[in-house]
Amino acid sequence: MRLLRSTLTGIEYPFERLEEFADNGESLEVVLPSVAQARVRPGTYLWERFADFLPFERMDPVLSLGEGNTPLLPAAPLLQQISGLPGLLLKDETQNPTWSFKDRGTLTTLFMAREMGERVTATISTGNMGHSVAAYAARAGIMAIVFIPHFAPEPKVQAMAIHGASVVRVSAPDYAAMKSAILSLAGEFRLRIVSGNGPIRVEGYKLIAFEMFEQLRGQVPDFIAVPTSACGHIRGLWKGWNELRLAGFVERVPRMIIVQAANNSPLVTAMRRGLRRPVPFRDFQTVAEAITSGNPQGGDEILEKAAAHGWLAGDATEEEILEAQRALAAAGHFVEPATAASLPVLKKLRQAGEIALDQTVVMMLTGSGLKDMGVLKHHRLPLVDTPLDGVRKALSDILMPPTQV
Ligand SMILES: *Cc1c(COP(=O)(O)O)cnc(C)c1O
Repeated sequence: MRLLRSTLTGIEYPFERLEEFADNGESLEVVLPSVAQARVRPGTYLWERFADFLPFERMDPVLSLGEGNTPLLPAAPLLQQISGLPGLLLKDETQNPTWSFKDRGTLTTLFMAREMGERVTATISTGNMGHSVAAYAARAGIMAIVFIPHFAPEPKVQAMAIHGASVVRVSAPDYAAMKSAILSLAGEFRLRIVSGNGPIRVEGYKLIAFEMFEQLRGQVPDFIAVPTSACGHIRGLWKGWNELRLAGFVERVPRMIIVQAANNSPLVTAMRRGLRRPVPFRDFQTVAEAITSGNPQGGDEILEKAAAHGWLAGDATEEEILEAQRALAAAGHFVEPATAASLPVLKKLRQAGEIALDQTVVMMLTGSGLKDMGVLKHHRLPLVDTPLDGVRKALSDILMPPTQV
């Protein structure tokens, strides 16, 4: 048996439901009562080993682009120093087929599309999800339609186009309002319009928790820091770890850390004020373009969970984000600004004593810096321009810089 259930009031819907949210606007989650008896099985793919935890009848390997198997690394000394956390780990989701964790959830939405016999899939995205859906739809041989807001970065838009997606750029002042207006067209067009916080996508993000569990050989981190926008990623990580607990594989679960940009922090602000609904943000500017849901649908569920389970939250200013992007690059990781926001947040939470010195924190590297080159104008590039006969001097200046006065 498999069904969808609304996450706050528990209203049940058939698994096949097209709409991504309940009629009352709550987020939906997949319920699989057999999960308590789930076993880990042998298998090549992560989703084969954890098939007992997943709701799909058929999972065709042909739909995979090789997502997952991403490294879980101890952070470099520089990053341990900045965060103040010797036990900092990085889960590098930039090493997915379209360079963000979105591919995990796109795979499961394509499993679903295949199972339901859908020939078109659609999504609304500021960039990474649209790119991911375009690539996976191309692989599956079905049509993709991607709705993007006018501020989506050009490289991500071009990436959608090269995979053959139909891209619809919408100018609307309020991205949250644009999203719900477009999602409401699903029924009329009999079209599944995949959102960042839909129940099937969240099943794919669960797989990241399972992979971490395998990589940590049964150890459970204390915290996972997650740059949060639509809320699907953080919900999937939480659901995955909790299902491992339900099935008896772990005794406790990591607490989540909600990371947002200070200029757009609907959840973090709500938590600070003790509210259970997101505080809507609009007309904001941030370099963290991948976390721009100003009023995430389903955010109230996340705030409930945060309050019930002692999650932490924090935000980062524009300067902090750019500085962290440079620090991560200095340690070898070229990530998006949205991803970098976690580093200053961890530092501040550690300084405030919310995270103890000996606790283990996993920082999710959600997306690659190559996908938002526009932001690089904010960084100073140590570039030397020289004719050939100036190379000797340039080299000697680099190796033996003239002493500063
Ligand atoms: C989508 C995205 C996020 C936010 O994830 P949600 O599931 O929308 O909360 C964070 N970072 C990057 C790079 C993303 O692409």
